[in-house]
Amino acid sequence: MTRWQDNLPQDLQDKIAAVDQQIAPQLAKIDEQVLYNQQRVLDLFRENNVGEEDLIGSTGYGYDDVGRAKLEKIYAGYFKTEDAIVKPQITSGTHAIATALFGNLRAGDTLYYITGMPYDTIQEVIGIAGNNVGTMQDYGINFKYTPLTADGNVDFEQVKHELQTDPTIKVVAIQRSRGYAVRDSFTMAKIKPMIALIKEYAPHAVIFVDNCYGEFAETAEPTFFGADMMAGSLYKNPGAGIAKSGGYIVGRKDLVEHAASRLIVPGSGKSEGATYGYMRDFYQGFFMAAHTTGEAIKGAIFTAALLAKMGLDVSPSWDAPRTDLVQTVNFGDPDAMVKFCATIQHYSPMNSFVDPIPSYMDGYEDKIIMASGSFTEGSTIELSSDGPLRPPYCLYIQGGLSYAHVKIAISHAVNDTFYQK
Ligand SMILES: *Cc1c(COP(=O)(O)O)cnc(C)c1O
Repeated sequence: MTRWQDNLPQDLQDKIAAVDQQIAPQLAKIDEQVLYNQQRVLDLFRENNVGEEDLIGSTGYGYDDVGRAKLEKIYAGYFKTEDAIVKPQITSGTHAIATALFGNLRAGDTLYYITGMPYDTIQEVIGIAGNNVGTMQDYGINFKYTPLTADGNVDFEQVKHELQTDPTIKVVAIQRSRGYAVRDSFTMAKIKPMIALIKEYAPHAVIFVDNCYGEFAETAEPTFFGADMMAGSLYKNPGAGIAKSGGYIVGRKDLVEHAASRLIVPGSGKSEGATYGYMRDFYQGFFMAAHTTGEAIKGAIFTAALLAKMGLDVSPSWDAPRTDLVQTVNFGDPDAMVKFCATIQHYSPMNSFVDPIPSYMDGYEDKIIMASGSFTEGSTIELSSDGPLRPPYCLYIQGGLSYAHVKIAISHAVNDTFYQK
């Protein structure tokens, strides 16, 4: 029988076989977690009596959209929050986050990030990067952040000091995933004490979590431990590669209502916003999300183990606890980084025939290389790799609708980059 790896060099085949053995117990742990999360989702579908009629969607104003209301109940149920907004009118994760923040901040208030500088596109929303109009700064909203400690943790002493001395702090933000920063993503074990600290020293502040890439990656979510509001994108984890647009905001009822006023208009708020033909994908995506996120994480574990065997610096390591999809690999060299990315593109289901070229992108300050041959444009629950072309030439690899696809693509990328020089 011919096998998928037969055309790879024997040395690489041996390494892959060793990795398979090494990571098997870790993959089994992910399977257990998927079962747990899948059951919770299934129970919510059952409790809410989801039927074909919920998948149809609405037009015009979108009032009395029963399917949308039910899906929002399912999201609120999964994340254990009072309310949720799930809409195709939310165009991205950045839009979901900006909507949640703008909706709950007023002139003179301060947005305070305790997890270091926020994700690149959020910096543009705040007005500290790019040259945009309509930023938080334009609206008189203040921003501050506390850099992480040298070992990549929240500086609890400094945060305590800020919370005690700055009465303008209205929203305290935590970014779960690392984004384009060289630091670990924050697991629930790390987020829990952050939330407890904020509650102790600034009990009236709103605790917001940028949950992009994090959903379904653990059996708990930040809202389980008292985060007041959270947002993310449907073309990451919760859409499972099936949702083609959209985002979500979950949290306390009043905070979600404020966000809805910002997203739509004061007055009709979240009751407006037709769902057109999106509902089937949103429901099916959320149903598949536990599984698909598991596939992507298993792919990341394989990637971490194989590239470490090739002598590269990877983070997280194959056996480290995970809380998101992101795998960083430090190439230390722009050529290897670009070459690896090119093979990921060539082993994608879409646009396998194009070559990724480093270039400037809206929302980002440095040149970015990006491989993404996804069914949904820019979808990073599908296998993609990207990173800014700046030292240490760190590639961010994430997603994968199936473990098999990740395994094949990564193995060939290793072959092209390190064996076919
Ligand atoms: C992806 C991401 C965002 C923004 O999401 P988009 O859908 O790309 O706008 C924000 N924060 C983090 C940590 C992310 O990973």
